[in-house]
Amino acid sequence: MSSDLRDSLDRPLRDLRISVTDRCNFRCTYCMPAELFGERYAFLPRDEILSFEEIERLVALMAPMGVRKVRITGGEPLLRHGLHELVRSLAAIRGVEDIALTTNGTLLERMAGQLKREGLSRLTISLDSLDPEVFSRMNGGKLSVQRVLDGISAAEEAGFEAMKINCVVQRGVNDHTLAALARHFKGTGHIVRFIEFMDVGTKNNWDLEQVLPATEIAALIDAEMPVESAEPNYVGEVAQRLRYRDGEGEIGIISSVSNPFCGECSRARLTTDGKLVTCLFAQGGSDLRALLRSGASDDEVRERIRGIWAGRSDRYSEERSELLGTDRPKRVEMYQIGG
Ligand code: SAM
Ligand code: SF4
Ligand code: SF4
Repeated sequence: MSSDLRDSLDRPLRDLRISVTDRCNFRCTYCMPAELFGERYAFLPRDEILSFEEIERLVALMAPMGVRKVRITGGEPLLRHGLHELVRSLAAIRGVEDIALTTNGTLLERMAGQLKREGLSRLTISLDSLDPEVFSRMNGGKLSVQRVLDGISAAEEAGFEAMKINCVVQRGVNDHTLAALARHFKGTGHIVRFIEFMDVGTKNNWDLEQVLPATEIAALIDAEMPVESAEPNYVGEVAQRLRYRDGEGEIGIISSVSNPFCGECSRARLTTDGKLVTCLFAQGGSDLRALLRSGASDDEVRERIRGIWAGRSDRYSEERSELLGTDRPKRVEMYQIGG
């Protein structure tokens, strides 16, 4: 078994993010705005979505190439029927050390216990604001903040610790509520991670004016609850860590716009319909579903994946500044690849 696979910029393949559904019960303005994703929006038909067996096969083939961490995402992954069964089978794959899930938290109350029992290692829950009005405006007015908080409580009871709480920051939208969010989770062991609004996909009306840079986010928090820099936990950690000076935990800031981190990017992404995508901002991916369904052998699938990774040269976030001002090309959308 060899794990020496490197891309053209000498980056290994370590993480795989799998989008298990393109559907969602939210309509976040920065991801699936309601005006574009209405009642009649054509989500993927069932036969175009990778089956659990197909996902398991791909992960089992990629683990020996270096994949250690798998993150299940979406759309809203908890909408995928029987998700705990996928967690169980991924947890049994040799070499996979860590299985994480990113969710909006609204279905966690009834699912957290089962996911924990089947081997889910870590949870990330998205929560943009504790202010009901701001929350509703950003997430499409579907469900309440309380529902997410109840999901977090259920996850705590199920035994999940040090959860990550993801908050997308938009200037003029939720920046006045960031400190309250940080304060709510300070001292709980959970880590709020503020994410700069990113120009993923083409449908979210991204505007640089709405990006609050990491330095400003840090200053906002520091003004109320003093923080200091902490060392990264591991090479390639995407969040910049800031520790509360009073010892009551830490926050993270993901600064992919103001301070890109492509140099250590070891992530590949699998879309709901089975395309392997090598960058969050890619224009498309390689169709592994067609290959699997054509009856390809394990060796053939392995060779295809190795070839894709070996040829990878993506570093979009580092190139972004050069591209700003030009037309945004077609890109994979966030709900298709899950962040
Ligand atoms: N539905 C799940 C959720 O919201 O947690 C999982 C999928 S969602 C696409 C994954 C993460 O991407 C969420 O934390 C979400 O807030 C974040 N996200 C979506 N669009 C974004 C954007 N334009 N900029 C920054 N983060 C974004
Ligand atoms: Fe749904 Fe997550 Fe996208 Fe919001 S960010 S619309 S919860 S997939
Ligand atoms: Fe990785 Fe692409 Fe993001 Fe750079 S822009 S960190 S290559 S996903």
